[in-house]
Amino acid sequence: MQAEIICVGTELLLGHVVNTNAAFLARELALLGFDLHHTCVVGDNEERLCEALARAIERSSLVITTGGLGPTLDDLTKKTVARVLHRPLVHDAATSAALKTFFGTRPYDGNQEAQAYFPKGATIFANNHGTAPGCAVTADNGCLVMLFPGPPRELEPMFRDMALPLLEKKMGASIVSFMVRTFDIGEGNAATRLGSLCEQQNPTVATYLGAHNEVFVRVTAKAATAEEAKALALPAVEEVKRRLGDVVYGVNVESLEEVVVGLLRERGEEVATAESCTGGMLAMRITNIPGSSAVFRTGLVTYANETKTRLLHVPSDMLARHGAVSEEVARAMAEGVRKDAGSTYGIGITGIAGPDGGSAEKPLGLVFLALATPDETYCCKMQPKGIYRGRNFVRERSAGKALDMLRRYLEGKPVQHELI
Ligand code: ATP
Repeated sequence: MQAEIICVGTELLLGHVVNTNAAFLARELALLGFDLHHTCVVGDNEERLCEALARAIERSSLVITTGGLGPTLDDLTKKTVARVLHRPLVHDAATSAALKTFFGTRPYDGNQEAQAYFPKGATIFANNHGTAPGCAVTADNGCLVMLFPGPPRELEPMFRDMALPLLEKKMGASIVSFMVRTFDIGEGNAATRLGSLCEQQNPTVATYLGAHNEVFVRVTAKAATAEEAKALALPAVEEVKRRLGDVVYGVNVESLEEVVVGLLRERGEEVATAESCTGGMLAMRITNIPGSSAVFRTGLVTYANETKTRLLHVPSDMLARHGAVSEEVARAMAEGVRKDAGSTYGIGITGIAGPDGGSAEKPLGLVFLALATPDETYCCKMQPKGIYRGRNFVRERSAGKALDMLRRYLEGKPVQHELI
C-alpha cells in the first residue's frame, strides 16, 4: 500500500529545523509494511500545499502531514486539507471544552478556537502533550489522510497511541516490536554476532545506532493479533540476548541510566560521582531519571588538580607523579567521593577529551574510569583504537561507560570489560 509524507513549515525549508518527523514516520510506516514512495516539504503557503496534497491524495492510499495545526495565522494545514477534500470545517465541542480547560485563566481567542475545527467526518486525535489536536479523514477516493502537529514530542505519542491502531486496521495486521539495547559493542560486530537473524522476515531483526552511539536491536513481528505478534517476537528477542551476551542492558527500557537507577533503588544503595573531563555529564544523566534522589548522593566536578586534592583528597604527590589523567588518580577520585559522600559506590572519571592536550604517552581520548565499591575498586582504561572522534564523543562515551561499569557490577557481570 502506497504512502506519502508531507511536512509543512517554512522553517524546514530554510534549514532552521531538521526534519526528524519525516525520519520517524518513514521508519514507522516501513514497519507497518507501507511502501513510502514520496516525502516532501512544503512551506507555509496555501497554494503550494494545496498542490502537494492534491497530487499525494490522488496517487497514494495514505497521506500523512505534519505541522501547521497550531493557532497562528501561518498554520493552514487543516484548512487546506478541507479545501482539497471539498469538506467543510466543523466545530467539535469536546475539543473546544478541553482547550478552554487547558488554557484556564490564560487568554483564549478565536485563533485558539480554530484548533477545535476539523474537516467533516474526521476522527480526532487528542493532543496529550500540547494543544493542537491531530485528525484522520478519508477522502472520497478512499485515501486516508492523517494530520499531526509539528513538534516531535507531540507527534510521536499521538502517532503511536492514536494513529497506529487505525493503520494496523488498514493493513489488517498487528505489529509488535521490542528494542534490545546494548552498550560497548559496535554495530558491525553486533550484526556479525546476530548473523542470519538479521535476514529473517517475520520477526525482522535490525540494528540501529541509537542515542549516545549505542547499538539498538529492534525485533518486530506482524500477525493478525497483538498476542500472536508478541508470541512470534519473544523467542527472537531471547535469541538476540543470547547471541549478544552481557552487552545487553535492557529490553524496551528508556536508557542505561534508567536501568542503573532502578537497580540501585531495588538494592537500597547510593552512588556519588567525581568527574573531570565529563564535566557533570554523568551526574546529569543519573539525575535525569525521576526518583534518582533516592540513589544519588553527590556529584562533584573537579576539573583543577587543586580541587581534586581539596575536595577528593587525591594526594598532590600522586598528581605530580602520575598526572591527573591516570589510573591512580581515577581510583583516588572514586574512593574519595565515596568516602566523603558516605555512599555505597563512588565513580571517578579523568581523561583527555581534546582536541588539545594529547601526547604520545597520553593520547587524545584516553580516559580512566574507576568504580569504588564496598569490596574493591575497579578501573577501566578507555583509549581510542582508531581515530580520535572528537571531544563530545569522548565525553559521552565516558559517561556511558561509567554507568555501564556500575550496571555490570550490580548485575554480577565482569566490570572491566573491553569494547567489542
Ligand atoms: P504548534 O504550533 O501548536 O506547536 P503545529 O502543528 O502548528 O503545532 P508547527 O508550528 O508547524 O506545528 O511547528 C512547531 C515546531 O515543531 C517547529 O518550530 C519545529 O520546532 C517543530 N517541527 C515542525 N515540523 C517538524 C519536523 N518535520 N521535524 C521536526 N520538528 C518539526
